[in-house]
Amino acid sequence: MTRRAVVVGSGAGGATIARELQGAFDVTVLESGGSFRPLRLRLRTIERIKRLGLLRDERQIRWFFPNMRTRRASDGMVLVNGVGMGGTTTLSTGNGLRMDADLQRLGIDLDPEFESTCREIPIGTSHQHRWRESTRGLFHICREMGLEPLPTPKMGDAGRCVHCGRCVLGCRPGAKWDSRRFLRQAVDHGARLVTNCHAEKIILEDGHARGVVARHGVRRELYSADLVVLAAGGLGTPSIMQASGITCEPRLFVDPVLCVAAEWPDALQCHELPMPFVIQRDGFIISPYFDFLSFVFNPDWRYPARDILSLMIKIADSEAGHVEEHGRVVKRCTTRDRARLTDGVSLCTEILGRYGVRKGSIFLGTLNAGHPGGMLPLTAQSAASFHDGRLPANVYVADATLFPHSLGNPPILTIVAMAKRIASLCLAR
Ligand SMILES: Cc1cc2nc3c(=O)[nH]c(=O)nc-3n(C[C@H](O)[C@H](O)[C@H](O)COP(=O)(O)OP(=O)(O)OC[C@H]3O[C@@H](n4cnc5c(N)ncnc54)[C@H](O)[C@@H]3O)c2cc1C
Ligand code: SF4
Repeated sequence: MTRRAVVVGSGAGGATIARELQGAFDVTVLESGGSFRPLRLRLRTIERIKRLGLLRDERQIRWFFPNMRTRRASDGMVLVNGVGMGGTTTLSTGNGLRMDADLQRLGIDLDPEFESTCREIPIGTSHQHRWRESTRGLFHICREMGLEPLPTPKMGDAGRCVHCGRCVLGCRPGAKWDSRRFLRQAVDHGARLVTNCHAEKIILEDGHARGVVARHGVRRELYSADLVVLAAGGLGTPSIMQASGITCEPRLFVDPVLCVAAEWPDALQCHELPMPFVIQRDGFIISPYFDFLSFVFNPDWRYPARDILSLMIKIADSEAGHVEEHGRVVKRCTTRDRARLTDGVSLCTEILGRYGVRKGSIFLGTLNAGHPGGMLPLTAQSAASFHDGRLPANVYVADATLFPHSLGNPPILTIVAMAKRIASLCLAR
């Protein structure tokens, strides 16, 4: 009889492992959201609604874009994640960077997994030939300043990209890669996908997982399994582990983002591929980015979208925070995090100044974050097995929860590579 695997979550980690396991296992994917639908509202309509003064709180985003969820951490930082088929990959800006230096330090070599991933996901920088004037100008200035900007590798079919700039709102032309492509392949090979199904806890018997209890509306059901893989993301997986009596570590990181913006007539950055190039600094990155969340909800972003020029700072934050069993997030920016943000703001202000922006006209975005992870970090002991001793033998974690440290950089490609390795280990058992 074919063994049964339950995979929780269909984002970067979940869709990958479901596809890899299907066949050797009968895979059931439990996904708390439904289908993903890109936001259809036009920017002009959003601007009109904004003027009515009705949009005050980021949590209202789900009224018109249900696949995007926001919550506030204990210190007020806005946390963003995707809910539904494809998880947070559907909201990504498509950046595909290999970020496994911390894993290499643990002796983990993911070369084969990265190679196979790059054969499956088209990744390239040809978008640079279509950059707008503002992006080209900023790139030139950063180069002159010796900041070594590099065009960002993007995952997807470059030929289909219409440079609408709406990646974080979902890609309507279907150019951007997201994990629904792997999910579809898993389902085509026989995997069962159960949507609107919220996994609550793993049922354990003599230290062995029997299955996962999940809720559909008010109904609860046990999904029996020989193997359970948690891939509910850096915030979802720790909640399920804790509800199942498995302890995690209070080492949550989130990669906080802060934008430094200014009014710049006809910048048209809202219609540019987001994060077209990236500058790597010690502990943070800088990249041009029109921040929709700040634009919609932050009263300081009062100019028309087309007239805003903005640079994003994304820091690698301290591993200090945790998710409580019911999803409340306790997270604070440490002194080191604040220092990185301050350094980033100074550098962005200098770049914008050289571009011609007056210092007094600069305004900041809302501190937000969308790369949670780290609450069951890989260690030297678990590096070979990808299996933490606190987990039952037939339970694995396959998402950003495994990262030992904040990347301060795009994690999708590395999560996909890790999930492939975990699938091989499960298959070899
Ligand atoms: C706006 C934005 C832009 C980004 N851009 C990029 C980028 O360009 N490149 C990059 O590499 N990264 C990017 N990221 C980060 C990246 O998308 C995530 O880090 C990555 O998708 C995390 O993968 P994951 O498998 O850990 O979790 P996710 O992709 O978040 O998947 C988790 C899934 O589990 C489901 N789930 C959660 N709880 C439960 C439960 N209890 N029961 C059932 N299902 C559950 C969720 O609905 C979701 O589908 C971005 C993030 C944001 C917010
Ligand atoms: S810019 Fe537009 S078309 Fe291109 S990947 Fe992003 S959402 Fe898709």
